[in-house]
Amino acid sequence: MDNEKRKELIGLMKTRLTRPMRYYLDLCTRCGLCYDTCHVFYGIPKKEYSPVGRAEVVRRIFKKYLRPSGKLFPFWGDSKEIDDHSMDELLDAAFSCTACRRCMVHCPFAIDTPFLLGIAKSLLIGNESAPDELSILADGAVEKGKSIDEFKDGFREVIKDLEKEVAVKLGGVPPEGLIPMDKAGADILFVGLSGAHSIVHPAVILNSAGANWTLSWFEAVNFGAFLGDPRKMDFIANRIINEAKALGVKEVVIVECGTAYRIPKYLMGPQPFKVSSIVEVIHRFLSEGKIKLNEKTITDPVTYHDPCQLGRNGGVYEEPREILSALAADFRDMTPNRKYNWCCGGGGGLVALDNEEFRIKSGKAKYDQIVATGAKIVVSACENCIFQLDTIKAGYSMDVEMKSLTELVAENLA
Ligand code: SF4
Ligand code: SF4
Repeated sequence: MDNEKRKELIGLMKTRLTRPMRYYLDLCTRCGLCYDTCHVFYGIPKKEYSPVGRAEVVRRIFKKYLRPSGKLFPFWGDSKEIDDHSMDELLDAAFSCTACRRCMVHCPFAIDTPFLLGIAKSLLIGNESAPDELSILADGAVEKGKSIDEFKDGFREVIKDLEKEVAVKLGGVPPEGLIPMDKAGADILFVGLSGAHSIVHPAVILNSAGANWTLSWFEAVNFGAFLGDPRKMDFIANRIINEAKALGVKEVVIVECGTAYRIPKYLMGPQPFKVSSIVEVIHRFLSEGKIKLNEKTITDPVTYHDPCQLGRNGGVYEEPREILSALAADFRDMTPNRKYNWCCGGGGGLVALDNEEFRIKSGKAKYDQIVATGAKIVVSACENCIFQLDTIKAGYSMDVEMKSLTELVAENLA
């Protein structure tokens, strides 16, 4: 790496030094209490996979260039130069963290390790060494936002086919209009993913409840956030926010995807509409009597995996449990759960990377938790989590079924 590039990266690091960032950089006492709160360290017990181990790579670079002691005595202590080797360390640190924030709730100073690793991700983007998979996916989403009109005809054709599937699931009603699009004045803008199931099951539920809804042109997932590029994250989220404003909807309902829910709900500022997860909306429809379930029809033991961004970072804990307790005769919570639930190992965009062996090892904590419940069905409410739970199932040859909560509801409507 040449000096010009190094200078550019130091400049980039300076742009990330907000007050909270300085607090997190300065405050760690190296007490080590966070070590075994991280599912990655649980499965691969190496210091570099502990929360503090990851953050130390960033702290040492910060110390070298931006702390007086590092500048005055560069050969003393534990400062680290920006070079190809430290960039590799940053890559491993940042993209082995799922941003689950389990370490944060156990740290005495509530140090936000993923926030701190935002510096690592910025440096990697500046060095053009961030994972290609995430860059390509983020750029694709940005491009779609810039030229959505070119995608509309093709998407409408896909939707016509999905309407037929919804019609069958609703008992053979006419398919036309079962998945409305561009409906100004709708109450709900539902935002799905690219998979058909992410639209069909919610459409069955929304139509059963008689909701006045419309489908977004965009996918909810935000690869800009996974990549750690704030500008791309904002652009991708704003595609949906602007669509919601143009249609004048009262509520934006996000498919089962934890990060896609957390960004518009908590990170994009106040909006003229409410943001809800599909899980909250299903719960509301049930409470209002708009839909009914075939209660206690599932007799195999069922457990629930709290997606980190929906649970610990989103506050949605009770709604999925109440839905599952209605559906299943034998619902068993994992231990620990809710705020302290173990991450499955698939968040932070990690499921999009070529790292299956790593994810199987880092999914060991989740595997142990599931086995301890004796459950035969594991339900979750995040596409990433379910993908990772399937990887864990294959990796440990588990005799369990992984299910989406929305799918389970759509299959068991009375
Ligand atoms: S628990 Fe907090 S203070 Fe202690 S080592 Fe971990 S990050 Fe640092
Ligand atoms: S946020 Fe999660 S994955 Fe990242 S260091 Fe903390 S516990 Fe580990």
